[in-house]
Amino acid sequence: MTNKEFADLLLPNVEHDWQYYESLYPARNLEKGAMVTRFAPSPTGFVHMGSLYTSFAALQLAHQTHGICYLRIEDTDGKRTVENGIKGIINDFKNLNINFDEGCGFGGNYGPYVQSERKDIYQAYAKKLIEEDLAYPCFCSSEELNDIRNYQEHKKLRIGYYKKYAKCRDLSKEEAVNKIKNGESFIIRFRSQGNFDNKIILHDAIKGDIEMPENDIDDVIIKSDGLPTYHFAHVIDDHLMHTTHVTRGDEWISSYPKHHELFKLLNFEEPVYAHIAPITIKENNTIRKLSKRKDKEAAISYYHKLGIPTEVIRLYLATIENYDFEEWYTNNPTLGINDFKFEFSKMPIGGTLFDIEKLLSISKIYFSRMKNTELYERLLNYTKEYDEEFYNILINNKEYALNVLNIERDIPRPRKDIASLSDVRKEFWYMFNELFDNNNDLYEDVKICDKNIIINYINNIYDINDNEDVWFTKVKEYACNNGYTADKKAFKENPDKYIGMVATFCALLRVIICKKNMSPNIYYLIKYLGKEELIKRTELFYKKINN
Ligand code: GLU
Repeated sequence: MTNKEFADLLLPNVEHDWQYYESLYPARNLEKGAMVTRFAPSPTGFVHMGSLYTSFAALQLAHQTHGICYLRIEDTDGKRTVENGIKGIINDFKNLNINFDEGCGFGGNYGPYVQSERKDIYQAYAKKLIEEDLAYPCFCSSEELNDIRNYQEHKKLRIGYYKKYAKCRDLSKEEAVNKIKNGESFIIRFRSQGNFDNKIILHDAIKGDIEMPENDIDDVIIKSDGLPTYHFAHVIDDHLMHTTHVTRGDEWISSYPKHHELFKLLNFEEPVYAHIAPITIKENNTIRKLSKRKDKEAAISYYHKLGIPTEVIRLYLATIENYDFEEWYTNNPTLGINDFKFEFSKMPIGGTLFDIEKLLSISKIYFSRMKNTELYERLLNYTKEYDEEFYNILINNKEYALNVLNIERDIPRPRKDIASLSDVRKEFWYMFNELFDNNNDLYEDVKICDKNIIINYINNIYDINDNEDVWFTKVKEYACNNGYTADKKAFKENPDKYIGMVATFCALLRVIICKKNMSPNIYYLIKYLGKEELIKRTELFYKKINN
């Protein structure tokens, strides 16, 4: 029996041979230096922080080199597949407005991009290896494999199906054919040519050179269901899809020797590997990977509910991805993330602790740079889903809301007080009369003066047409004529002579307006609220504090 007949017996009904696929998926026509990257999740449900981290790196590097980043679904492990997992992933990406250039749900000429639809392709290449005597059927039952494993454990030997432990490696074709005739089930393993005592080097784009022993394990390439293992599928797919850079989690580093050997046995050019360290979290003094099952911060829906846009998550992840990104972003207010040049060599070698505070501070910068009109639109979308009361107020008072949202915005150093869309109401509720009237917060402590001083100021001094300078000059003059001083030294020497400094007068106005000691510039607050509302709030304030 020839090797070809043997391969046909082992893997019958494979429509095309491997040469067919080589010409079906020709080299990509891209400019020199263009990277082809991919994100290759198992369909285990939804997109989470970890998947965004890896996919952003892949997208960013492909796009900045005018290359391609595609989405491939790795569903050959039935145990890891969940119902609607594929749809869930594609929808999540689309809802987050993250678009791959190609891939499952995105089209392209190098598909199918779902591994379970590529069975014939893998088998065609497995047949190539069988024909070249570089792969063989293995009939070992799980009990036999367990026995081998137990023996190796007991003898403190290296675990695995290699050398003399590779029981089926030396079966003759005739023996194998007999077993098949007897109905014995089998899988296909590759015939390793490696020697564990030799060293190979993984030239990792992120982690640098890593020396490892050469592979000598005859690992499975085709399972009993006819589907490939991750190792085999990875090598075939990244070859046929012409991936130049494999960005994947660093848990795969230890499998590299297998992949390296498979690329060699198949005579494929090996891509560059960039193994990404995970985002981690501290729990009871131990550090573990951020978990999509355990950690609420891993779910993108968590940020969606808070009103933190995907762009912010992307910016935050960029600060982890390249150590100099944050400084660059802070110093370049007019540039966007796509203007930054990412490099593998600037990625962290070890895991990075997830830092929600950092994420929120990035978010504040992000929102501070947004035009009021855009903020308003986003706020409408957000409140429509999460805060109907505020939505109605915003929609019924568009011009007013735009003014409020523009307070200390659109200036060289805008306020950085909003980290999320849900913060807008928390920051500006007092600017909306309905929300103020229904608010039960207590007034924060402040030094008061006679009510008439305030009322008289509003009625007779305040002029809505004054610019900020004139307004403040008048406030100062009025306060100084009514028991306050602008002279710090005089106040220090004789504090009992005055109600307080001019700032004390302004602080009182502020608390009357918003109950708090901190707010944006009160010049704008008064201007937008208007005299009538201010009188009303003054009366309320004195009524409350007298009770
Ligand atoms: N499907 C693999 C996983 O979910 C991805 C590994 C790779 O990107 O090659 O871990």
